[in-house]
Amino acid sequence: MTVIRVSELFVSLQGEGTRAGIPCAFIRLAGCNLACAYCDSAYAAKSEGEPREARDVARWARDAATPTVMLTGGEPLHQPGAAELLRLLCGGGGDVAVETNGSIPLAPVDRRARYIVDVKTPGSGAGGSFHESNWESLRPQDEIKFVITSRADFDWTVEIVRSRELDRRLPVLISPAWGLVTLTDAAAWILESRLWLRLSPQLHKLIWGPDRRGV
Ligand code: SF4
Repeated sequence: MTVIRVSELFVSLQGEGTRAGIPCAFIRLAGCNLACAYCDSAYAAKSEGEPREARDVARWARDAATPTVMLTGGEPLHQPGAAELLRLLCGGGGDVAVETNGSIPLAPVDRRARYIVDVKTPGSGAGGSFHESNWESLRPQDEIKFVITSRADFDWTVEIVRSRELDRRLPVLISPAWGLVTLTDAAAWILESRLWLRLSPQLHKLIWGPDRRGV
């Protein structure tokens, strides 16, 4: 029996990335190994969560019957049971993604899942946490996300994208930190860069407000 610690299960629209706006079953696991300055899911990151059997959670996701399933957190890969949960979710055959903060090696993670991977910018307070081996694990179907808290974060991001030609390899998401960078500014900076960057506003916050949970 595999037990995982769950913060919340809910169905909503995908808020970010290339699948934004699509119905999704979210599995938010508890606990995180980082402490970002702008964390908007601290209630999950700092909690113990509720112990649940992985197969029950996978059954909940299957019964939700959404086009996509997202395993998120906190940091979902921080939990040993996440591997088994992903195996069960991917066994269902639908679109399954795992959202991770980039600090944990992706090599052992189920290859059937799509990886949505943060690279923590200096403004996050967790800069330098990216696990270097993960550059090699990224595939075209994955997505890489930079949450920018300032113009300095954006310029730092551009340097990494250029040096690694990330925008030619996979979708690169620019997510303005809520309340710190406006969509207008982020749009202008992306246009200025002339890179293949995708502005990724947090759609769920635009629809339901920044403080609502379970959306
Ligand atoms: S990695 Fe994500 S969940 Fe963890 S502290 Fe940072 S923003 Fe919060």
